[in-house]
Amino acid sequence: SSLEETLLGSIRTIPDYPKPGVQFRDITTLLGNARAFRRAVDELVHPYAGTKVEQVAGIEARGFILGGAVAHQLSAGFVPIRKKGKLPHHTVRIAYSLEYGIDEMEMHEDAVKPGQTVILVDDLLATGGTAEAAIKLLRQMGAEVVAACFVIDLPDLGGRAKLEGMDVTVRTLVSYE
Ligand code: IMP
Repeated sequence: SSLEETLLGSIRTIPDYPKPGVQFRDITTLLGNARAFRRAVDELVHPYAGTKVEQVAGIEARGFILGGAVAHQLSAGFVPIRKKGKLPHHTVRIAYSLEYGIDEMEMHEDAVKPGQTVILVDDLLATGGTAEAAIKLLRQMGAEVVAACFVIDLPDLGGRAKLEGMDVTVRTLVSYE
């Protein structure tokens, strides 16, 4: 079956989670499906095979699973971007807005070397606010962030345009209107 069929067929939708009216796209079922997991990772990796990606940055928590697999396949390093207070060494931190209120994410200040080529990986692109903050953090530390890669796009929420406005190539595998 096609890539899109395999991925859409393995992603579960949970109605009214985490609150009424929200359709939560659950990738744990994709991760638990060996074929779908491999195809998703292969597809995320494909444009960068043979190119110089030195680090893959992943956003806690589902971006760790996908980003770790992508980094391994590209023989790149992995950079965890975490909720505040979780990383043990000196960090840089950025605030970003959520639907309700603000949160903060951080990375180790020595996690990337200035000039290193980095791609960002997460499970889902909605408004793009989370990825935007992660890209700002990486750039603050001198990274060359060339792309942001997601399994799922929610195109109605405008994340792609927001990230493209930051000069980042956006790659997504499936979308839900
Ligand atoms: P954004 O910042 O509005 O683009 O939201 C994207 C972030 O929220 C990502 O880190 C996603 O993991 C998470 N997210 C938002 N909606 C969903 C969903 O339906 N399923 C899984 N993750 C979601």
